[in-house]
Amino acid sequence: MNPLIDSTLMDSPFGQSLRQGEPLLWLNTHYQAEESQYPCELTRDDIEQADRRLRHFAPLLQQLFPELASQQGLIESPLLSALHLQQQHYPNLSGKLILKADHALPVAGSVKARGGIHEVLCHAEQLALENGVIDSLEDDPLTLLSPACKALFGRHEIAVSSTGNLGLSIGIMSAALSFKSVVHMSVEAKQWKKQRLRDRGVTVIEHSNDYSAAVEAGRDASNADPSSYFVDDENSPRLFLGYAVAALRLQQQLAEQNILVDAEHPLFVYIPCGVGGAPGGINFGLKQVFGPHVHCFFAEPVEAPCVLVGMQSKDLRNPASVYQVGLKVDTEADGLAVSMASGWVCSVIDTLLSGVFTVTDDELFRALYQLKQSEGIEIEPSAAAGFAGPNWLTETAQGKTYQQQQQLTSVMANAAHLVWTTGGLFVPPEEMQRFQQRGAQLANR
Ligand SMILES: *Cc1c(COP(=O)(O)O)cnc(C)c1O
Repeated sequence: MNPLIDSTLMDSPFGQSLRQGEPLLWLNTHYQAEESQYPCELTRDDIEQADRRLRHFAPLLQQLFPELASQQGLIESPLLSALHLQQQHYPNLSGKLILKADHALPVAGSVKARGGIHEVLCHAEQLALENGVIDSLEDDPLTLLSPACKALFGRHEIAVSSTGNLGLSIGIMSAALSFKSVVHMSVEAKQWKKQRLRDRGVTVIEHSNDYSAAVEAGRDASNADPSSYFVDDENSPRLFLGYAVAALRLQQQLAEQNILVDAEHPLFVYIPCGVGGAPGGINFGLKQVFGPHVHCFFAEPVEAPCVLVGMQSKDLRNPASVYQVGLKVDTEADGLAVSMASGWVCSVIDTLLSGVFTVTDDELFRALYQLKQSEGIEIEPSAAAGFAGPNWLTETAQGKTYQQQQQLTSVMANAAHLVWTTGGLFVPPEEMQRFQQRGAQLANR
């Protein structure tokens, strides 16, 4: 039986535009700026514990991935100003345009790095404890590289389903720790991402259907094998908390750059969204850190707005798919090509998410070209979805409605608009050139 959709919105002119694949901004009517009680069992403590785990294992990560030497094993990306981009392409934007550069996250090359590596470390730690190879979580982190650990991990499998980038993150990390590693790739996954994994000894299983189907197939195969652990993108607090760690890091970077976030200085954050895990974790973390002063908007392809549709479902834990409203998941943004959101994430962010806007593929390619031209930064198409955000919030009737509802109109000149660039580091040069050419054609029209 199909999950039920609340028809209030879907039967309105807005719903019609959504079904026709027109770009739009949806405001979440359940959003609550102030909240004493968050709607899930997770807390700020849990995020801090995930941060501590990643820091504890920094020496191990540095050993495994020499590219982390300059950051002492910490997987983090810079917070960048985007002055030229703002001057050239956002001439009317008051406030400040900034970028959280997760496209440059080392090891995994995307926003999936923190979450994926956190989850693999959790599992490795747990196996090592249960099998008596380590005595406590305080043990030397390099013990996980000992012959005893290697032998143990070699008898165990870590599996995941992915449209590409989660597979890279989990596959690279689990193979580096000597696990057997299996990645189920959905039809969208790019050839070069599969090859990159195979080169590292990861078993890549290609599926001819979409992401939700690849998750189901991967989950079933893994559950049938007691030595296999499935990283479940639709239901994983370990991934989610790893993603949320980004909020703690961002808080520090904003402070270092003297960018205030308070009642007089709102922070708008625009994050590309697929199944909802990475943006949801970041949204959750940012709310813990900045409370009512941060406003999180997700960016989804016009043909795959699965979280927007999921949030209209009568039971958030059982979200409807975009197929149910007649859309087709047809997008070049492989990282966002998801038909059905995580129901667990939808329920967690129900009151934390400010809204969702949708973007066409043309907008993605134009934005990635403009970013390269103005700032010299290269990103993949999925990672460009956030760039429409500032205009949605400041130039449209819907955006102005949000400003009024949240009583922000008078402080918009002090706002920071943060666009999260979520992937791109490992895109092969020929592929990047094709992206840029397509963007150039659109921009010069
Ligand atoms: C996975 C991904 C996202 C979105 O993350 P979800 O957890 O799928 O919502 C955004 N951008 C890129 C580049 C990604 O790979």
